[in-house]
Amino acid sequence: METGLSSFSSIILRKSFFNIYFSLHGEFGKTLSAAREMQWRPADDIREYQWRKLSALIKHAYDNVPFYRERMKKAGFSTGNINDFEQFRKIPILTKKDINEHLDELVSATASKSSLLLNATGGSTGAPVHYYQDKAMILGQWAATHRFFDWAGRAPWDHVAKLWGSSFDIENAKPKTWKGNLYVRLFEGVKFFPAFEMNERTFSEFAEYVRRFKPACVESYAVPLALTGKYILDRGIDLSGSGVRCAVTSAEKLIEDHRKIIESAFHCRVYDRYGGRELGNVAAECGSGGYHTADDFLYLEILNEDGSPAKEGASGKIVITSLENFGMPFIRYQNDDMGTLATGGCECGRGLSRLKSIDGRIQGVITLGNGGFVSGVIFPHLFKDFDIKLYNIEQESLEYIKVRVVPGPDFGRKDEDFCKEVLSRHLPGMEIEFEKTDGIPAGPSGKFSFVTSKVKSPFS
Ligand SMILES: [Zn+2]
Repeated sequence: METGLSSFSSIILRKSFFNIYFSLHGEFGKTLSAAREMQWRPADDIREYQWRKLSALIKHAYDNVPFYRERMKKAGFSTGNINDFEQFRKIPILTKKDINEHLDELVSATASKSSLLLNATGGSTGAPVHYYQDKAMILGQWAATHRFFDWAGRAPWDHVAKLWGSSFDIENAKPKTWKGNLYVRLFEGVKFFPAFEMNERTFSEFAEYVRRFKPACVESYAVPLALTGKYILDRGIDLSGSGVRCAVTSAEKLIEDHRKIIESAFHCRVYDRYGGRELGNVAAECGSGGYHTADDFLYLEILNEDGSPAKEGASGKIVITSLENFGMPFIRYQNDDMGTLATGGCECGRGLSRLKSIDGRIQGVITLGNGGFVSGVIFPHLFKDFDIKLYNIEQESLEYIKVRVVPGPDFGRKDEDFCKEVLSRHLPGMEIEFEKTDGIPAGPSGKFSFVTSKVKSPFS
């Protein structure tokens, strides 16, 4: 059936299915059409649109969300009406710690919890967060993602080869019913490969799949795709005839060397995107340079250490306000990454604002004794489902790895055993020591370097 993913009839079938699906789910179709139209408006129009949504959100938060009303009163606000961006910047920053400690007070009095989706992120900086999302936010994130796929030249019905999660996730995600199976066989154009098991078998199977079945797009966390690209180049595997149109990377910082490796190996351009589970597609590359922010769904600030706005071209802390999640507003949320605003407009002509670079972190790579690698993305992926406040991982040698966690009250012995068991399946031949601690010191940059390895790898 694998050949079916790229066959002409299969693509037509998926395209028809998506068109029917979009027309049945009118709200999503409308959100996506509006987003597609918005990107071409002049920057001033977009800023005005943002301001209208932002000021309505702040008023709503003051009136209905206990956490913000309290905070804003303390900061000297007597109403939720704000006059300008300067006044907006007086609202205190929201940290991951705030969310974890005040989750219930962050939910709007006008929302019922049953209408919200409880979600979690493992955090790109070693601190998991739990939060609620409402339907409007999910629709917005979905629309921003599809608009980005337009930029990369990828259609929703395209055939994609994707390195993602582990083989266990891929197995668990398989449908359990015949209807589910039929749906996947007919409509799902994605072939998954395990990104947490980076070894010769995964590299060669991925390369062989791309060569034989010619997907329109390859998608992955940045480092696993670069490792696969390196394998392809080292072995002289020629994928020039595969017709891959784009490589989409995300979840960790894409460095320029990795971009070059991926582009040479797959003979296509890389389109990197930046975001997180909690805020979706925050910014993404259009192909003309830099990352356009999803201004219609969020308001992004780059701040200096003292909280003042950083100048264009200067690096600062990324702070994001979701313009959608009225059920649990994210106002001035600091996600612990750094970014730099681009100067001037973009050659592509889009009015969406633009980041020159994003200084998120490379999640690190664990090297195995059998010659394989495991992406550091596995740790946030696993720990997001447990009551862990902070963690960091140190690989001492090919045989020994230390996992330090700051546990919350609900992280028990069973959870620790479960995490150890999952990790030992992915890290064969390695002793895994769990150390529970009260705190983890920040690195020299003030950020928590959460996966470090003393073992040399091609990517260390
Ligand atoms: Zn552009």
